[in-house]
Amino acid sequence: MPIDPVALTAELVRCPSITPHEGGALVLLEDVLTKGGFTCTRVDRGDVSNLYARWGRQGANRTFGFNGHTDVVPLGDEAAWTMPPFEAEIKDGYLYGRGATDMKSGVAAFAAAAIDFVQNTPPDGAVVLAITGDEEGDAVDGTTALLDWMATNNEAMSVCLVGEPTCPDVMGEAMKIGRRGSMTAFFTMTGVQGHAAYPHRAKNPMPAMARLMDVLSSRVLDEGTTHFDPSSLQVLTIDTGNPATNVIPSHTKATVNIRFNDTHSSADLTTWMQEEADKVAAAFDIQVDMRVRVSGESFVTPPGDLSDLVGKAVESETGVKPELSTTGGTSDARFVKHHCPVVEFGLVGKTMHQVDERVAVEQIGQLKAIYTRILRDYFA
Ligand SMILES: [Zn+2]
Repeated sequence: MPIDPVALTAELVRCPSITPHEGGALVLLEDVLTKGGFTCTRVDRGDVSNLYARWGRQGANRTFGFNGHTDVVPLGDEAAWTMPPFEAEIKDGYLYGRGATDMKSGVAAFAAAAIDFVQNTPPDGAVVLAITGDEEGDAVDGTTALLDWMATNNEAMSVCLVGEPTCPDVMGEAMKIGRRGSMTAFFTMTGVQGHAAYPHRAKNPMPAMARLMDVLSSRVLDEGTTHFDPSSLQVLTIDTGNPATNVIPSHTKATVNIRFNDTHSSADLTTWMQEEADKVAAAFDIQVDMRVRVSGESFVTPPGDLSDLVGKAVESETGVKPELSTTGGTSDARFVKHHCPVVEFGLVGKTMHQVDERVAVEQIGQLKAIYTRILRDYFA
């Protein structure tokens, strides 16, 4: 009996696996994969549950890897849901529930494809699923924990497909071959508080912060590259919280987020921002403190065998030739890229993280067919 990816998606959606709660999702998946002939290992670290499953010989020359997650983001405004978020009800061709698109349907489609594939046409090689319960959270003990465990246990993937939703509107129209980097800088400027009528006795950090934010956001970081859109720096907030009309504040804070392409590294951008901040601080004679948090560097798997394999399978099944995209936020592919070539393909992600998240039931079947074809062509 072939595995029904819609039924499996529904079962997974019924597991309330809001990060970092496992919610029964990985237990269910482990059960299904074990019955399908996979050897499963739970790779739990910290508060997080992860699952590693392999069919075939350890150390096989050709090992096809799949990476995905079963955790989901919180419900948001629960009262605004018109369908119950953990019941996987189907209405008008859509399956509703938190995680329906991001990305329990992707995990279910690949698991169903992989189980049927290894049973019907056992390949000369191995098929691996590395499924995390912490993609939507800090991701510290998620895919990185799986990759660390793999390294110490001589487990490897020759190539890896990440099953996140990648299509903006139409099934098949985009795959991702990389992602921009993301970093956030937190600035605090400190002057001297004083009376607004006696500014010579104070040092106002506000004009300095305004100058710095203008300098940073005015710079054209680049014009884009072969595979990437131009980098972008956005000022997210400037906070002083000064309710008085006669007081010069002593402190002001600002936060800046940068989405950067392969022209830059977080280190270069940090150096640049620090230099600009120091110049402004000197010009205004105030103190500046900058802290930086890097979510990930930009990366790209240049078009080649893996993107061709996935692109051809998508086109064969949907009639649509996928664009090779690097847009959107970061994903766990940023960790996998240190391990092996990685690309991402999944279904239409329009309602990810939204109220009434839903997936077109038809697309789940299409996705299974695409993943099946990818496996078949990879081992052909
Ligand atoms: Zn996701």
